[in-house]
Amino acid sequence: MKVVTVVGARPQFIKAAVVSRALLKYRTDVREVLVHTGQHYDANMSDVFFDELDIPRPAHHLGIGGGTHGQNTGRMIEQIEALLVTEKPDWMLVYGDTDSTLAGALAASKLHIPVAHVEAGLRSYNRRMPEEINRVLTDHLAGLLLVPSMGASDNLKSEGIVGPSVRVVGDVMYDAALYYREKARRPAIPVLGDLHDNDFALCTIHRAENTDDRARLGGILDGLAALPIAVVLPLHPRTRARMVSAGISFPDNVRVIDPVGYLEMVWLEAHCRLVLTDSGGVQKEAYFHGKPCITLRDETEWVELVEIGANCIVGASPQAIQQAFARMLTCEISASVQPYGTGHAAERVTEAL
Ligand code: UDP
Repeated sequence: MKVVTVVGARPQFIKAAVVSRALLKYRTDVREVLVHTGQHYDANMSDVFFDELDIPRPAHHLGIGGGTHGQNTGRMIEQIEALLVTEKPDWMLVYGDTDSTLAGALAASKLHIPVAHVEAGLRSYNRRMPEEINRVLTDHLAGLLLVPSMGASDNLKSEGIVGPSVRVVGDVMYDAALYYREKARRPAIPVLGDLHDNDFALCTIHRAENTDDRARLGGILDGLAALPIAVVLPLHPRTRARMVSAGISFPDNVRVIDPVGYLEMVWLEAHCRLVLTDSGGVQKEAYFHGKPCITLRDETEWVELVEIGANCIVGASPQAIQQAFARMLTCEISASVQPYGTGHAAERVTEAL
């Protein structure tokens, strides 16, 4: 059996790392052909993950990045279609909700190649998010929907997607958190030299709804400035560019660093006091590492964590960030409730294929 896997963005490299390893381990009858669209292309947003996480080198690198959503998606579909005609796979495997996900799903389904979607069924119910459009469309094209939680399965049900094509496999990011925890390492970055365990907050900001809205981005930075703790901010290149163009400066308590590799990110998550983020993946990883999370958005796809009190949604208001910080500091996270499976999601994915 041949599987073409399309990845292109940071979180997809991490998810693909655990599934590719499981495919190699459990399915010797499967040949995986990895395609990197080039959506994320900086060394610290792409190469570092391939180097550190033992991801097979992509067989095809499309070098498509830096354009608008329409430009990128269109160029990806064209090139993925051409290589699918040559590769003739049995499955197209896609992850998450990026333009690369949708391009892979569209190109394959028009060629009648079945699509398997890892992280299917998530919804923010906010169609202004490009990710929401990508994931809804991909789910409706997919023939195999690999779902991380019961809630995601219910979302699909409400859109009429039911039956044996929907498999609740758990979250491959939980597998990754467990597998790489042992390999985590402290970032050797001078500006973090004096930080002690539990003495800093960890923050990431990259969603367009925050980066492309000056008032929201400024509000978040004001909120961080008011926190009585050092904040480590591994800064996404898009956020950095937007801050420069919007003339927003970094508060004194914020330690800005370049994006780090996954092993360093896991270390930061495991040793911080609390997480503030607009990332989907980082919300869950906070929980996996026993840390409270403040979500800098108006909604989340990972509703289970809000329901169990491990995550709170605050948007971008400085006051809401401050109030949530005071509240979440005392929150005890118990990993006894695990809504995202048992850490064997990648095996379940290989079985389902
Ligand atoms: N991540 C990382 N280095 C960083 C910031 C994030 O390795 O500097 C990882 C993080 O641990 C998580 C993933 O990137 O596994 C999340 O990706 P991102 O926030 O870009 O996307 P989202 O999850 O929101 O789709």
